[in-house]
Amino acid sequence: MKKLIFIFLGALFLLSCSRNNDNVELKPVNDNSSNGRNIIFMIGDGMGLAQISAARTVNGDELNILRCKHIGLVSTRAADKYVTDSGASGTAYSCGEKVNFYTLGIDTEGNPLTNIFEIISPLGFSTGLITTDRITGATPAAFYAHQPDRFKFELIALDILHKDIDFFAGGGRDNFDNRSDSLNLIDSLTAEKYQVVTNLSGIEGDKKVAALLYAGEPPKMSENRGDMLSSALTVALNRLSRSEKGFFIMAEGAQIDWAGHDNDQEYLLKEMADFDKAVGVALDFAQTDGNTLVVILADHETGGYALVDGDAASNTVVGEFVSNQHTGIMVPVFAYGPGAENFTGTYENNEVFYKFLNFLGVKKNN
Ligand code: MG
Ligand code: ZN
Repeated sequence: MKKLIFIFLGALFLLSCSRNNDNVELKPVNDNSSNGRNIIFMIGDGMGLAQISAARTVNGDELNILRCKHIGLVSTRAADKYVTDSGASGTAYSCGEKVNFYTLGIDTEGNPLTNIFEIISPLGFSTGLITTDRITGATPAAFYAHQPDRFKFELIALDILHKDIDFFAGGGRDNFDNRSDSLNLIDSLTAEKYQVVTNLSGIEGDKKVAALLYAGEPPKMSENRGDMLSSALTVALNRLSRSEKGFFIMAEGAQIDWAGHDNDQEYLLKEMADFDKAVGVALDFAQTDGNTLVVILADHETGGYALVDGDAASNTVVGEFVSNQHTGIMVPVFAYGPGAENFTGTYENNEVFYKFLNFLGVKKNN
């Protein structure tokens, strides 16, 4: 098995997390504290305990994630496979059922499942999706799509058109405007009363937001993605916290998983730092707001990553990967805010859905 050893200098690492001038300024998000019940659901795709431990060490033993005092463990397996994927595990979180590998929003018989956005949006909750993947990637798509194949991005893009998502941001613009069927879904989004922007600083007014920030996959942090994740979350919180009923935002650190597939520790640590920065934005909002539950977890672990050595004094870790695929280990859950105590203990991934509905005071209507 390939053995990767990287020595990391904490100072250099911090310097590398520089700002991207293309993105909007981070502003305080608590100028209009909400009255409703809010959930900020943060998914670190592929983020196991070793990934969190490594990020903590290279950051001087501190992480925003570790501000949470309520911690649990989630079993992630799919209906038909011990080791899951983001489609099946994302669907468990969004729809409350274990489903088959590579599927999105459909049960094991192929019937569409009602997802949490479809339940709470008609009740007046605002909804948001943010990802460092394509917006058509499996993790965000679990919150709007009903498809048997998570890789059919063009079909998945069609599924977002008639949903009532108030804010979404990520890559994958080519699935909307450069399609094999020549349809122009940007026009369709505009007709659905969205403002479609390619830069967060272009957002204005009260219209729903479709921020298609990259033609394809968003770049890595090391390729200058900058503050996209934290900035998009800040903008979404500013807008969605106007909802009197409350809001649900899912924000994903997608490339923690991609770094695991690549067995690339340097890539992994930069993506972990970016995700943890966004977690800080979520926790700061929740801390001031008082009505916001923040839940941080993974859909599965990726890479079978382990720490075989390290040095706390120099903020360095030595990691190894045993796989370039997902693994079946339980993943940690961190919760903060009202209702956080309900996320302690051990449970299956699909139970998270019912914990969310419970917190929002909503029942599944079928
Ligand atoms: Mg993902
Ligand atoms: Zn993966």
